[in-house]
Formats: sequence, structure tokens, C-alpha cells
Amino acid sequence: MRYTQNKLIALTFDDGPSDTTTGHVLDVLERHGIVGTFFLIGDNITEERIPIIKRTLSLGCEIENHSKTHSDMRTLTREEIISEISCTTDRIIEVTGRAPEFFRPPYIYYNDTMFDAIDLTFICGLGCEDWETETTAEHRAEKTIAQAEDGAVILLHDFEGNEKTAEALETIIPALKDKGYEFVTVSEMFRRKGVDLTKQRGILFNVTSQARG
Ligand SMILES: [Zn+2]
Repeated sequence: MRYTQNKLIALTFDDGPSDTTTGHVLDVLERHGIVGTFFLIGDNITEERIPIIKRTLSLGCEIENHSKTHSDMRTLTREEIISEISCTTDRIIEVTGRAPEFFRPPYIYYNDTMFDAIDLTFICGLGCEDWETETTAEHRAEKTIAQAEDGAVILLHDFEGNEKTAEALETIIPALKDKGYEFVTVSEMFRRKGVDLTKQRGILFNVTSQARG
């Protein structure tokens, strides 16, 4: 790993865009002057939600690929896997003008066929059970802060109704700022850590230190 002065961390949000929760997450990021990365489900990219995607971009956040239908992709054929990825990538390019570089497998289910068929860097991240409605905002914040490390991806969700994550961010962001973290998008973090994405096939990343040199 190359030396970087600041500790870097990337907040990421899965399963959007949603009609209200994505906007609330963006409100918090904007108020704290930081960026995040959003892994979108292709089928959620409707015409009505294009304004929220445009707002995401205007805040300096990044859009990545979380499949088209959010199914267990281990059960799909190679052709179906390619279609899931390319439909979503094409839709993201149409809306944002930028091709995704990263992929988060739905449910973090993956296999060798997926690694072979998908030409994107696979990202997981450090989670805090924020996909469970009963997980409190306090637990989401405490676990995220406790797990933070330089080069980490933080796995969160902005699906409709997941307001406790927007609430937890109000604690997470100032606490990590106090610990000296700089918030960056996933692509910026990999770039600044000197990771060559072309060499990373077969790795599911939680932190950039897993990279092959
Ligand atoms: Zn998901």
C-alpha cells in the first residue's frame, strides 16, 4: 500500500434509490459536507427517481452497480448474470454519463461464475445489521464506529423506510471525523490507496489492504 496522510473511509449505501430514505441520507451527508457511494438496483432506477440520482451526483457522491433484480445470482446462468450487470450499467450510464467500476453482490452471495462473468471490482464492506428493522440507530452507529479502519468500506442501506441509518449517520460522521477520517467515494479511496483494479478479480473487498499489488 502506498502511503497516504489521511485515514480514508468510504460510506456506501445499497438497494436504492428509494423515494424518501435516499433523500434523507443525502440531507445528512450534505449537512456534514461529505460524500458517499450508492450501489443501485437497476429496477429501482425509474423515471421518477432520476432527480434523486442527479442530486446524488451533484453532491459529489458516486453511483455503482448492485444488479438489476437483486436476486441470488449464484442461481443464475452466466448469460443471466451478464444481463443483470449490463442492464444496470447501461441504465446508470444513461442517467449519470459514467460507467460503474464496482459491484456489490446482492445478499453478498457470490461464486466463481460471477467473478468470471462480471468485469467490475467486487465490494462488500463492514456492516452493522442495518438491514434488520429491529437494529437500533445506536447499535448501527456504535458498531460502525468500532469497526472503522483506514481503507474500510462501510456497508449501509438506503432502502425505503430505513430511517434509522440516516439517524445513525448523525453520530457516525462526527465521531469518525474526530478520529481523523476523511470520507471519500469508493473509487477515490481505491485510487488514493494505489490499488490497480485490473488485478483484483476474485477478491471481495471489505478494506483496500486486501488488494493484490
Ligand atoms: Zn442489497
